[in-house]
Amino acid sequence: MNVPTKPAVKRKVTPWLRRGVQILFFVSVAVVATTGALAEKGIAVPVLGEGASLHAICPFGGVVSFWQLATAGTLVKKVHDSSVVLAVIALALSLLFGPVICGWVCPLGSVQEWLGGLGRKIFGKRYNGFVPKKLDRVLRYLRYVVLIGVSYMTIMTGKLAFQEVDPYFALFNLWTGEVALASAVVLGLTLVLSLFVERPFCKYACPYGAFQGLFNLFRVFGIKRKAATCIDCKACDRACPMNIEVSTAGTVRDHQCISCLKCTSEAACPVPATVLLAAGRVDGKPGNESGEAR
Ligand code: SF4
Ligand code: SF4
Repeated sequence: MNVPTKPAVKRKVTPWLRRGVQILFFVSVAVVATTGALAEKGIAVPVLGEGASLHAICPFGGVVSFWQLATAGTLVKKVHDSSVVLAVIALALSLLFGPVICGWVCPLGSVQEWLGGLGRKIFGKRYNGFVPKKLDRVLRYLRYVVLIGVSYMTIMTGKLAFQEVDPYFALFNLWTGEVALASAVVLGLTLVLSLFVERPFCKYACPYGAFQGLFNLFRVFGIKRKAATCIDCKACDRACPMNIEVSTAGTVRDHQCISCLKCTSEAACPVPATVLLAAGRVDGKPGNESGEAR
């Protein structure tokens, strides 16, 4: 007699690994920023020492300092050497894997994603679909306007032009009373909108996300879909926080991909080894190099 057996439970390592990395970075940045802010107020935390200012661990400060560093050999005001080192490391990672800093490391991205989980519970399938497609498509280029504007202002003034509206700085410094009103407002808007739209700040406004997103055009390891084994179930499309149509792509080249790997066979796609992070061709034939945001 055949005894029915339970289907084997497929262990999905990547989502858990990513969640662990996100929590690790969130806690680390919170501890460093808090001890740094306390040290500025003359309060030393035992064991943790003086921490560091958020500027010292923000790679975007390094990015906007590149021009001044190349032309005058100095850094933009408040930017530390460590920011430049982090910016170079992030650059190398982006060349290889795309915007992994956005998808795995950035605490502001993680907070938006965690709030998005709540939004998904409230709105179900309607979540992340509230913005009309035509408007959404245009809004996604807004972050490049922000990137150009911030870079220009920083180069012209030698000061961190984004600081006054930066929700990332506000997230960890709100309690200090040293946050500009505009950045507190942007943070509040970001958190509220995250209940309706997944990662609204990343999609529409983040200048560093815009910079990182450019690497999707030529990264070495890309998100690849094997058309030969795809069953066209669209699970990858539904899983993508950035609304990218993975199910029609050979290689995802969309500038909005954050390398979260949520669409892969390790997470959403039900067919093994059909959506994966890989270099070169995975289908043995040229693929559609797109994967447009819906
Ligand atoms: S295409 Fe895949 S890796 Fe890129 S953002 Fe969407 S789900 Fe994440
Ligand atoms: S989830 Fe996998 S099988 Fe389904 S459409 Fe996407 S690539 Fe194809």
